Amino acid sequence: MTTRENVRRRVWQARLLVIALLLGLIALQTFGSGLGVPQELLKSTALAGLGVAVLYLYRTPCLNCRRPLGLFAFRITGAYRQRPNEAAPHCPHCDASVDRNFPPSPR
Ligand SMILES: [Zn+2]
Repeated sequence: MTTRENVRRRVWQARLLVIALLLGLIALQTFGSGLGVPQELLKSTALAGLGVAVLYLYRTPCLNCRRPLGLFAFRITGAYRQRPNEAAPHCPHCDASVDRNFPPSPR
């Protein structure tokens, strides 16, 4: 797996987390009016979920040096279009290419 693939995998995980959280909150707001859940609690839970998702991406580790990529992780997601003649981005800590393949780590 490459670091870029790892970032994309975590982007999907974060998206699923946020979608599941929002669907749960919408269902709770729509059908759980009898439960007496305060609106402020629903809103702060949604914000906290978004914060967790962003932090999860921010802390994506480089597969070479294991240090978190930080804002660099957002740069190598699908939102960033790489030009054809541009070199692949490198880890800001160890300078390993994000397209370098690393064997899956034993767990
Ligand atoms: Zn690194």
